[in-house]
Amino acid sequence: MEFELWWLLALPLAFGLGWLASRLDLRQWRREGSVRRDAALSYFRGLNFLLSEQQDQAIDAFIEAVTADPNTVDLHFALGNLFRRRGEYERAVRVHQNLLERADLPAPERQRAQIALAQDFLKAGLLDRAEAAYDVLRATSYRSEALAALLQIHERTREWERAIDTAHELERIGAGSYARQLAHYWCELALRARQRGDLDAALHALDQAVAVDPRAVRPWQLRAALAQQQGHEPEAIAHLRQIAQLRPEFLALVAVDMARLFQAAGQQASGRDWLLAQLQDNPAIDLLDAVLLLEPDAATRRHHALTYLQAQRSLLASRRLLDQLGELDTAAQTALAHALDGALKARQRYRCAGCGFEARNHTWHCPACQGWDTYPPRRTEELQLIST
Ligand SMILES: [Zn+2]
Repeated sequence: MEFELWWLLALPLAFGLGWLASRLDLRQWRREGSVRRDAALSYFRGLNFLLSEQQDQAIDAFIEAVTADPNTVDLHFALGNLFRRRGEYERAVRVHQNLLERADLPAPERQRAQIALAQDFLKAGLLDRAEAAYDVLRATSYRSEALAALLQIHERTREWERAIDTAHELERIGAGSYARQLAHYWCELALRARQRGDLDAALHALDQAVAVDPRAVRPWQLRAALAQQQGHEPEAIAHLRQIAQLRPEFLALVAVDMARLFQAAGQQASGRDWLLAQLQDNPAIDLLDAVLLLEPDAATRRHHALTYLQAQRSLLASRRLLDQLGELDTAAQTALAHALDGALKARQRYRCAGCGFEARNHTWHCPACQGWDTYPPRRTEELQLIST
């Protein structure tokens, strides 16, 4: 608390000293008339209010000083930034709007005030006003910063068409590749089209997603879901097989769904063999689950679960083996199962590699840090296994 107060005092004091130093020639100062003198009075009144901890009155006095004397523009910016950093967005907005209202403000300072105002709105969560403020800066030297902020706003407001346009614009001005994000924006549009029953639009959006990022996994997952919805199981399976070609580690996310598709398509045996081969190449508990689902022979299921546990030594694998042991001792088995389930409760989630946020289901867009593709396709317990 004390530190903050010092900050607040030190800043205007430093400006005040600089301001005084620039006006040591008192004779000249006198000649500049009453406007400057009013500014000086307002300034010292502001300092006085600050010293007596009357911040509101201090701000009003500073604004008065800045209005009378254009040379205090930097004080204005400093105060505005200070307010924003302290979370006092309304005040920061007031400071920056006051600057923008001045007709004599040079263009570079005007743009600087505009971007500061946009940042105030963004931080305050006033997204529509932030969007309008950043829009003005598209044609200025703050273009790339404005576009990046606009993209962030479009994502938060889920305006995917606008996000696509903005990402393309960022690519055009040389801000790097946005292929990964673009594929997700198209996937979001596909989901929306599917929700309103427009399958053609959904398919078209997924074509765009694949075109913009041929390595993306999610469009294939969604293509499979659409095919399945229309009762085309073999087609859905073919789409999911693509994931094994592109990024085999992501097969874990769709393995159990795939096993059910194999069942529905009457391809239980060939599907089981294919999944087993994938399991051996890329071990993951969900692939084991898929194989167990399709394997009719109890002894073979037990063998698969045991082999997996021997290789992976995880609680998850122990739990699967326990399921396959048969009724040797029901009471002991139930007790073990409960103990394992308890220990596993917090360990079969997915964790964002960017910020550590955990989610029960795998997600492509982190709700905490807003990162795309930040969730590895492995459950947390198996992730620990890999890292140790
Ligand atoms: Zn995150």
